[in-house]
Order: sequence, then C-alpha cells, then structure tokens
Amino acid sequence: MHPQFPIQYQFPLQSLNTFGIAASAHAYLRVTKTEQLLGVFADAAWVSLPKLVLGGGSNLLLTKDFPGLVLHIALQGREVLASDEHHHYVRAAAGENWHEFVQWTLAQGLGGLENLSLIPGTVGAVPIQNIGAYGLETKDVFHSVTVFDPATSSTRTMDAAACRFGYRDSIFKQDDGRHLIIVDVCFALPKQWQPNLRYAELAQALAEQGIATPSAQQVADTVIAIRRRKLPDPAVIGNAGSFFKNPVVTGAQCAALLERFPTLVHHAQPDGSEKLAAGWLIDQCGWKGRTMGAAGVYPKQALVLVNNGGAQGADVVALARAIQADVQARYGVLLEPEPVFI
Ligand SMILES: Cc1cc2nc3c(=O)[nH]c(=O)nc-3n(C[C@H](O)[C@H](O)[C@H](O)COP(=O)(O)OP(=O)(O)OC[C@H]3O[C@@H](n4cnc5c(N)ncnc54)[C@H](O)[C@@H]3O)c2cc1C
Repeated sequence: MHPQFPIQYQFPLQSLNTFGIAASAHAYLRVTKTEQLLGVFADAAWVSLPKLVLGGGSNLLLTKDFPGLVLHIALQGREVLASDEHHHYVRAAAGENWHEFVQWTLAQGLGGLENLSLIPGTVGAVPIQNIGAYGLETKDVFHSVTVFDPATSSTRTMDAAACRFGYRDSIFKQDDGRHLIIVDVCFALPKQWQPNLRYAELAQALAEQGIATPSAQQVADTVIAIRRRKLPDPAVIGNAGSFFKNPVVTGAQCAALLERFPTLVHHAQPDGSEKLAAGWLIDQCGWKGRTMGAAGVYPKQALVLVNNGGAQGADVVALARAIQADVQARYGVLLEPEPVFI
C-alpha cells in the first residue's frame, strides 16, 4: 500500500450509502488531503479507472459493484473568513458533515443556513444538486466553491454564475462539470438576518409554539422537529430522501391536468411554469406504503423509497420504474429520479 494513497481493494460500501445497499468498490481511497487527488490523477495506474466521488452517500443508488476507484471525500475544516457591509463569509471543507456545519454556524451567532438543517451528507455535495428545503436553496446563501479539476490537475474558484444553479441542478451534474471535485464551499450569510418563513408548514409550526419572532436556532430546531416527524431516519430504514424531483410543466399542461384532476397540487413558478408535487402524484396512483420485494414506498411520505432490509439496487430501480410508468400513464408526466444511479 502506497503511504500517501492508502488504497484498499474490494471495499464494502454498504455502510457508506444511506440506502444501505450492499455493494463493493474495486478500489477505495479516503481522501483527507487535497494533494492525494493530485497524486491519484498523476498516476497512470489510476487515471484510466472510472472514479466515483463519494460524500455521505445520501443521494445515490448503488445498482452494482463499482468497478473503479471510489474517492471518499473526508477533507475537514471550517472557518469564518471575513465580513463586509452585507455578509459574513464562512467556508467549510468538502468532507465536513453538512448538518454539523449548519449547527456550528448557528453557534457562531450566524443565521442563514438554518432552513437546511438535518439534510444528510457532506458540505461538498451541497452545491451539486443545489440542495433545498423549507423555502431555501443553496444558491440563496452561496458565495463560491473551490474545485479540483482532474483535467488540469489544478484547483480554481467558481462563483454562483459559473455553477449554473437550477432546481436540484448545477453545472456539477452536466457534461462540462461532472468531472470536477469540490474541495471546499464558501457561503455568504446575511448580516441583517431575517427568518425565512416562506414555507407555510414551518411558519405554522412556529406559530403553534407561540413563537412570533424566532431566532435562527429556533427556526433550525423547528425544521429538525418537522423533518424527524416526516422522514425516515436512514440509520433505521435505508433511504435517500426524496426519490423523485417535483416535475415542472408548462402553464397550459397544468391547466389541462386541472380540468381532469381538480385537486392536483401545483405551485406557480416565476417564469409561468408550474411545479407539481411528485409525492401527491405517486400517492394518487396508490403507491404509498406499497412494497416490491425488499424495496418499498414509505407509508408516511410517498416521495421516499425505502430499503425494507436486504434490497439490492435493482429492486429499488424496479420499484422506481413501476411508479414512473403509473404516473406517466395517468398524468402524462415523467418523474425524474433525484439520486444519482451508480
Ligand atoms: C433522509 C434524507 C433527507 C434528505 N433531504 C433532502 C432535502 O431536504 N433536500 C435536498 O436537496 N436533498 C435531500 N436529501 C438528499 C441528500 O442528503 C443531499 O443531496 C446531500 O447533499 C447529498 O450529500 P452526500 O454527501 O451524501 O452526497 P453523495 O450521495 O455522496 O453524492 C451525491 C452526488 O454528489 C457527488 N459528490 C459528492 N461529493 C462531491 C464532491 N466533494 N465533489 C464532487 N462531487 C461530489 C457524488 O459523486 C454524487 O454524484 C436527503 C437525503 C436523505 C437520506
């Protein structure tokens, strides 16, 4: 074993993905220093192998053993960098646990990330799909990201425009950015913090506690309580959160659907399109609580597919395909999976 690259072979990945799927990697490296990436991509033996950059494994579905090298990003470190008239800037290394980082910013007295509390995974994966929850998306609090580019074996900084953020999307999911490895992320947190209570359920939950002007920590605590109530804990039951993105349709498509399905759940978007609730569509097709083999649809939330114990990636894929087919047949809408299939 090379001392700088303690690569391990036939490495089990079951405990490294929140679905709890049993699969192995041909080779595995826990990356604790950026220089290790330089070394890997300078070594002819490793360059040609397929790579999987792994964070917390909470947004991927392993469908088979991985035939290449898994780069498990474990880079650590976080700091308050600077302030200007409007913002405090905080930076964290890609391997930091996201929820712990959010809690740390709150402990520094810095609000802004609290609506994204308790989302599993690492800081480095946060920009990949522009994670969002409870009325906030990454792009709203993002400043810049440092990436390692294997094509040039160098690092560079990218701002929000360069990241091309969209709904559960960014350049890091596109052909011209998929190869980039995120090393650290910098967030711009507002100096004049105001609670973001755009999400009705969050506002209501705070009101029920009699909290009219919540602190950032109170918003975080309420988000955490709601999430614990609604979502399965991956430590108990394997899952990757929402399995499908909410489909976006044109205004005309939505109007046509509403004629046939007057209770259709939809949310108007600023550009005139309409976002449909994927969970509602799946529920209406009768899938909530149903199982197919060892895979199933979470009884409390139809958007979440679960591993009821011993499921293979193929079981989850088969269930997802069956759901997609039903929703397509009934509503003419194709549901797009949110997790990355490996
Ligand atoms: C219970 C539960 C609830 C969830 N709730 C939400 C939610 O509310 N909102 C939401 O948006 N998501 C949610 N998710 C999905 C998931 O937690 C997020 O997408 C998270 O950011 C994934 O982080 P990760 O480190 O686990 O990424 P991984 O699953 O390890 O990787 C996901 C993708 O990012 C790539 N990647 C990871 N790290 C890097 C890096 N450093 N550089 C380059 N590429 C990288 C991987 O190659 C892969 O393609 C939820 C998941 C679960 C299990």
